[in-house]
Formats: sequence, structure tokens, C-alpha cells
Amino acid sequence: MNVLLIGPPGSGKGTQGKRLADLLGIEHLATGDLLRAEVDAGTDLGREAEAIMASGELVPDDVILALVMPKVRAASAANGYLLDGFPRSVEQAREARRSAEEHDATPDAVVYLEVPRDELKRRILARAESEGRADDNEETVTNRLRVFDEATAPLVDYYRGRGLLHEIDADRSEDEVTESILAVLPKR
Ligand code: AMP
Repeated sequence: MNVLLIGPPGSGKGTQGKRLADLLGIEHLATGDLLRAEVDAGTDLGREAEAIMASGELVPDDVILALVMPKVRAASAANGYLLDGFPRSVEQAREARRSAEEHDATPDAVVYLEVPRDELKRRILARAESEGRADDNEETVTNRLRVFDEATAPLVDYYRGRGLLHEIDADRSEDEVTESILAVLPKR
């Protein structure tokens, strides 16, 4: 099974993505984690991405697609993927679909995690204390939420129109959210 997990920063994509991938026996591919690994390793790609990530803007589509699509194809050819943080825009979704269709690697379901704005900010600032992510500060968070509204939120209509969208109330306990997602995923 191939699943896309979309939602604003702080909506629980990382937590739910890990849990679901484990429960479903599919690969968890988180583009933010892949980029942070490149930054930590000091690669050319990491050097290009670092300042962009620190500002809360999106890394260019060609960079992201080159990083993630080979992993998407490989995971789909095995048990499937749980993609967290990709696509982040309708343009990325269209590009990814072109490539995925050629390799029979398109998503079976898209899950959108909905959380009220105040709760998102509270969660991100709490995470800043525990994880110390460079982009979890008040200024960058405001920009990441703006980028979400402008670039990523249109994906909700895009996937609704394709009949793939499941909207989940993610302002609940981790267990309740996981259960609700499992309940809406197509049965294999
Ligand atoms: P995340 O861990 O998903 O919150 O991502 C952290 C940062 O990585 C984002 O604010 C972007 O700068 C970058 N990023 C992650 N995924 C993507 C993507 N699909 N497209 C462009 N930039 C991304």
C-alpha cells in the first residue's frame, strides 16, 4: 500500500508516519528527515537546502524530486511507502504523479491531518524545547504556516478531486489519530 500524509507543520505527520509505517509494514519516507540527514552529512545538497529550510521556504522541486522519487519507486516495488512531507505543492504532486505512473507507484490513499492553528503553534514551540530543530522558532514557524497555506493546502482539493482524500481530525491523542487513519485506509 502507498500512502501520502499531508498536514501543516506540527500536525503530527512525523509521529503518525512512523507509527503507520511500522503497523502497515511499509517504508516511512519523510522528506524533512532526508533533507536534515543531507545537512548533517554536509553534502552539496545539504548545503543548498540548509538556509532554505532555516527560513521555512520550500527546497526547489528538482532537488526534492531527485532525492525522493528513486526511494518512492523502490519502496513501492517492495511493500509500499508512507510519504510524509511530500508533495508540498500541486506542482510537486503533478511531477511525482508523472514519474509514479510510469512505475506503477501512485498513492492508494492521501491522509490530511487537520489541527487548529493555536494548537499547531503550541505543539511546535513545545517541540522546539525537546528536539531543538533549527526551524522550530517563532519567526520561522509563522513563515512555514504561510508557506503551508499558500503552497501545500491546495493539495487538499487536488486529491479530493482525484477521490483519494481522507480528512482526519488530528487534534486528539496519538492513539485515536492512528486508529482513525487505519480505519479509512483501503483494505488490502
Ligand atoms: P518537515 O520536517 O517536513 O517539516 O520539513 C522541514 C523543511 O524541509 C521544510 O520547511 C522545507 O524547507 C523542507 N522540505 C521538506 N519537504 C519538502 C518538500 N516536499 N518540498 C520542499 N521542501 C521540503
